[in-house]
Amino acid sequence: MYFGSVRFFKHLIATVIFLIIAGLLTTVIFLTVGNSDKLNEIERLNSEKNTLQALNDFSGGGIDDILQILDALGIDNKELVNTIYENDRDAFGDIVETERNGADSEPDNNGSSVNPPVPEPNTEPEPDLDKEQNPYAELFPHLYVNFQPPTVYMNDADYIYLTFDDGPSRYTVDILRYLDKHDIKATFFVIPDDTENGRNFLNTMLNSGHEIGVHTMTHIYEQIYASVEAFLDDFNRAFNLIYEQTGYRPYLYRFPGGSKNDYNEAVRDDIIAEMARRGFVYYDWNVDSRDAMDANWTQMYNSVLNDIANQPRSVVLFHDRPGGYNTVTVIEDIIKALLASPRGYTFSAITPETRPIQF
Ligand SMILES: [Zn+2]
Repeated sequence: MYFGSVRFFKHLIATVIFLIIAGLLTTVIFLTVGNSDKLNEIERLNSEKNTLQALNDFSGGGIDDILQILDALGIDNKELVNTIYENDRDAFGDIVETERNGADSEPDNNGSSVNPPVPEPNTEPEPDLDKEQNPYAELFPHLYVNFQPPTVYMNDADYIYLTFDDGPSRYTVDILRYLDKHDIKATFFVIPDDTENGRNFLNTMLNSGHEIGVHTMTHIYEQIYASVEAFLDDFNRAFNLIYEQTGYRPYLYRFPGGSKNDYNEAVRDDIIAEMARRGFVYYDWNVDSRDAMDANWTQMYNSVLNDIANQPRSVVLFHDRPGGYNTVTVIEDIIKALLASPRGYTFSAITPETRPIQF
């Protein structure tokens, strides 16, 4: 007889114990899963609260505050940044005015308040041009600089030369601020903007220790590369505006589109020769941030750091053009990463002793 037997009670007790253990286990598992859901929910609410708090705290402190918040939210921020700038055109002027007022003296047109890194406007007679042999000799006789390339360039291993093309624009305000904040000097290949703000930027750049080179006045490839004369005409306008405003005669230039592009094949060698005869030296680049190709934050950050790591020294192409790229959103993060690199990079503006990078 099974029921009532010792074996029956043994099985009964075992079954009861099993049921109790199973019940306890189920309860523990249920509570753990439930709590983990609750913990996740609490974490999510906290994160939202922090974001809201950050947004709440933001009171116009600067574009980088906004960018940090957007980064935290994982939002591609280019469009928003552009909107912010579009809505804040006045700030462009305000900041320039503040910087100008903060300077020791008002900028003037004879260059006495500027400390360019190469000799002041020259007072020597113009070069004796061979007008018989050179068809361009009579064009723009004042378009020249007394710059002699050094016979030996400096050893600039692990140097990084940040360069910014197509500015100034309202984006330049932030770029200059980031550079100043990290005590970095850079080189601006400008499209001089013939407005009060645009002109003042040229003084601000030089007074902050940055270098200015000529980029172009129009940036219209078909126009400037139509002939050597057309290139000189465009270049001369930009050069004169910089010289009139700052008293500085820039000896550096950068070809729009780089020295080798689809538009200048027929004229590039003649342009280079004529510009060299007038004392100008051009710089291409060996690291392209790809900002003009609309690269996003991640693409720019990764490719710039990668490419610099693979170069003995780097001339890096960025833009601060009026249309705006992602440059302003990523430049400071790139700078911070480079400063933290164990390779011990040195940042510098291009100097007369910097061996050019030329395509
Ligand atoms: Zn350009």
